Amino acid sequence: MQKNNLGYPRIGARRELKKACEQYWSGGIDRNELLSVAEGLRRQNWKVQQEAGIDLVPCNDFSFYDQVLDMSLTLGAIPKRYTPVLTQNKDNTELDLYFAMARGYQKGGLDITAMEMTKWFDTNYHYIVPEFYKDQEFKWFSSKITEEFTEAKKVLDKTPKPVLVGPVSYLLLGKEKEEGFHRIDLLKNLLPVYLEVLNKLKDLGAEWVQLDEPFLSLDLTENEKKAYKEAYTTIAKACKDLNIMVATYFEALGDNTDLAASLPVKALHIDLVRAPQQLDTVLKAIPESLSLSLGVVDGRNIWKNDYRKSLEFIGKATTALGNERVFIAPSSSLLHTPYDLEAETELAPEIKNWLAFARQKLGEISDLYDILNGNKALLEENTKALESRRMSSLIHKQEVKDRVAAISGKDTSRLSGFETRQKLQQTRFGLPLYPTTTIGSFPQTTDIRKLRAALKKGTLSHTEYEAKIEAATIEAIDIQERIGLDVLVHGEFERNDMVEYFGELLEGFVFTKNGWVQSYGSRCVKPPIIFGDASRPEDMTVRWSRFAQEHTDKIVKGMLTGPVTILQWSFVRDDQPRSETTFQIALAIRDEVVALEKAGISMIQIDEPAIREGLPLRKRDWPVYLDWAIKAFRISASGVKDETQIHTHMCYSEFNDIIEHIAAMDADVITIETSRSQMELLEAFSDFKYPNEIGPGVYDIHSPRVPTVEEMVALLEKASALLPAQNIWVNPDCGLKTRKWEETEAALTNMVKAAAKIRESV
Ligand code: GLN
Ligand code: ZN
Repeated sequence: MQKNNLGYPRIGARRELKKACEQYWSGGIDRNELLSVAEGLRRQNWKVQQEAGIDLVPCNDFSFYDQVLDMSLTLGAIPKRYTPVLTQNKDNTELDLYFAMARGYQKGGLDITAMEMTKWFDTNYHYIVPEFYKDQEFKWFSSKITEEFTEAKKVLDKTPKPVLVGPVSYLLLGKEKEEGFHRIDLLKNLLPVYLEVLNKLKDLGAEWVQLDEPFLSLDLTENEKKAYKEAYTTIAKACKDLNIMVATYFEALGDNTDLAASLPVKALHIDLVRAPQQLDTVLKAIPESLSLSLGVVDGRNIWKNDYRKSLEFIGKATTALGNERVFIAPSSSLLHTPYDLEAETELAPEIKNWLAFARQKLGEISDLYDILNGNKALLEENTKALESRRMSSLIHKQEVKDRVAAISGKDTSRLSGFETRQKLQQTRFGLPLYPTTTIGSFPQTTDIRKLRAALKKGTLSHTEYEAKIEAATIEAIDIQERIGLDVLVHGEFERNDMVEYFGELLEGFVFTKNGWVQSYGSRCVKPPIIFGDASRPEDMTVRWSRFAQEHTDKIVKGMLTGPVTILQWSFVRDDQPRSETTFQIALAIRDEVVALEKAGISMIQIDEPAIREGLPLRKRDWPVYLDWAIKAFRISASGVKDETQIHTHMCYSEFNDIIEHIAAMDADVITIETSRSQMELLEAFSDFKYPNEIGPGVYDIHSPRVPTVEEMVALLEKASALLPAQNIWVNPDCGLKTRKWEETEAALTNMVKAAAKIRESV
């Protein structure tokens, strides 16, 4: 039985890679310094894995930015627009070309846009989307893979295992940039480069190579299935003495089980954390020539492994296949977990004892192996830790569970239907047609961020901090009044982050000091850990909303983050269904909504930007998810009177395929991102005859550019052709926290003028 790892985090225990990359980009360090930081990180990672007793230690899982972009560079899938980066500036190296593709390039008269970036399956990691053209040719370009293999070989006692994105998944991850072909048609052109790389690895001494094929556990078309057969038959023929391991994760193989089992490779990796039920079917399906890597240690979450459960899986597999054909592994690459729990010196010991980060997960793989070889003490220790979690009074709050159990139909519906509410609200607010508002945050200037840092450090007292935030809030109110907006916001100056802020105030959440996970490139996030029943011990936002409302005669919209988004951007407990946890949070948000109403706040926005990204990977699972996600939002929004107006906001979403569910949220007003798509997104709402009010974003907040009155009027005219005028709001695409005040004021001033213009035309 071998201990197998699929991939390790690369950012460094103290985010060394992030810092080095950013310094390199800003010219603070040179190429050699950056390369040496990277080499140090790789060496350290390999050593840690070797010391933990891992037999198959991955290499080429390191990346300066993203492993899919690495693959594009390896395969020579480099869009033509980047050619000048090397030809025009002779000092530039392959690394500069690589970063240009990732981040765009503006230097020496060149202005080249970055490649697109999107989410890696249902994780919060983002990859760089390969660009494909008709009849595209591929050619081995970057030799990162072979270099890293040679390097790893020097560090490790056992032969390292190179990890590559497999050919079919690589194509499916990309996007056609012109009409007239499907990217899967490029397989014939692509495969020869894979064969060349694989054979070279073989010559250099590689024994095992891992090809990641996560698409094998997603819905596949017949053509895509055929591509799998073709790709792996070709590889098997051309690379006879190389052991290929095909890795799947994040879902069950499901209806692709027979396909996966029939591929002529040496081993198949399956995710038994996400899909434990698949073990039996997979064991039945695999032929004698195939070994099985069991993903039993959670690569996506931070909980200690349940050894008994894992041993049961391993037992089943060894009974069916024999020890030789079984590998123990994490469910996926450990990229999605933080580095090392040992760095968390301030976590409550009781909670710490329930957790495992990447480094501890390596230990778990080797523990499982040792237990099988007779070390029963390890099993006992694990059982104790798990037992303490099951019983802990830190986790279990009976009143919270009872409240969720008692949720009934009346908790998930407003008192009256939308039409009735709309009339009451129109009378109450007396707003003009096309009312203007913003999405919540105003510029988080360095001064504001410094305040928070000083508060954390202790150099600023709480009272002083609050006074400064109050001053910023008053200023924002004044500015909004001056600009002439109809519905104001308090500006969110007291918030570091829209999830962290609430997590810190809710019970059942903890925060780490150093639990960073790569989100994209050098960007990392530090998700809260939801460990216990969630509840709201006290008001979270009332003080700030009330304060702002006291300083103006205009309406100030309260501002909350919705339950699904809080869930989606956290590490979530695995001891109860995600829906249950979401309902608990929904009740807490509902109480906050009611408290805001009581405090005299008449409009309340509940942001749910993450609803769409929570969609399961397989379409058949969508209805169940949408059902509880929408219900959770409705629970949070339904505690108020008809006259209180509930808003929601969603960004970067495509809505076509879930529009009826968005409508079922029944928010009085939804604000959405549309300006970059020139209102095309709105068509889904108009085709569906979306009944409630909508604020389609009229300008893109991601750019410092100040939009003109005319262009916003034109967008509003487009919107007016699609929707009834009385349902349309005027607002930017998203929050303004990343913008500067100057451009914000100018843009909003123009936006208010645009609203005035369109009003004249009705
Ligand atoms: N209210 C939040 C803000 O304005 C919404 C952010 C978001 O949608 N991601 O910043
Ligand atoms: Zn947004």
